Amino acid sequence: MSALPENIHTTFDRILQRSDKEALLNQHGIVIWMTGLSGSGKTTIAVALEKLLAEKGVLTQVLDGDNIRSGINNNLSFSEADRKENIRRIAEVSKLFVECGVVTLNCFVSPTKDIRQQAKDVLGDDMVEVFVNTPFEECEKRDVKGLYAKARAGEIKNFTGLDAPFEAPENPFLNIETVGRSVESCAQEIFNAVMPLIKQ
Ligand code: ADP
Repeated sequence: MSALPENIHTTFDRILQRSDKEALLNQHGIVIWMTGLSGSGKTTIAVALEKLLAEKGVLTQVLDGDNIRSGINNNLSFSEADRKENIRRIAEVSKLFVECGVVTLNCFVSPTKDIRQQAKDVLGDDMVEVFVNTPFEECEKRDVKGLYAKARAGEIKNFTGLDAPFEAPENPFLNIETVGRSVESCAQEIFNAVMPLIKQ
């Protein structure tokens, strides 16, 4: 951690510890970081996964790109520097939840290894990476938000997968291929893999 500026006095040592909060909730906080192209299914799967977890009494928080960009990060652009700042804030917000024992379901394109590494640098082993693996052609066919059509028409620049890169994770915790599968089956696969981490 970098040195604190003068006049900043953190209270971390005086508040209830993470372990106390986790005991209270009877769960272990983790960040399930979903990466994948726009329209790959991150948010849809997170919503289904949240339901499965809630049925087992797990407290969660879904964080997704559009919500964060319309709220806490509404002053950030898509410039290189602002993309970095976007991820830094998301990771720090996730850390606050995780320190409280909450399971966060993060739905962010997070297109490069570098960006995901930045999050990992903040979250360490509390973060598991889930690749929502849907090919570009399929995402373009779905075009849930009409963004692919706009990007093709040149109305959106630096669109991930088209004129900005998407670097697939090399060694994700899970690789979820969505084509030809139901949302429920994808969510169930993640649920099965993360439950042992949450209920240790
Ligand atoms: P993202 O959050 O990655 O941008 P969304 O969740 O908003 O993507 O959109 C994914 C779209 O793909 C939804 O319309 C969803 O119904 C559809 N879809 C089809 N099959 C699947 C699947 N197996 N998993 C997730 N989404 C799927």
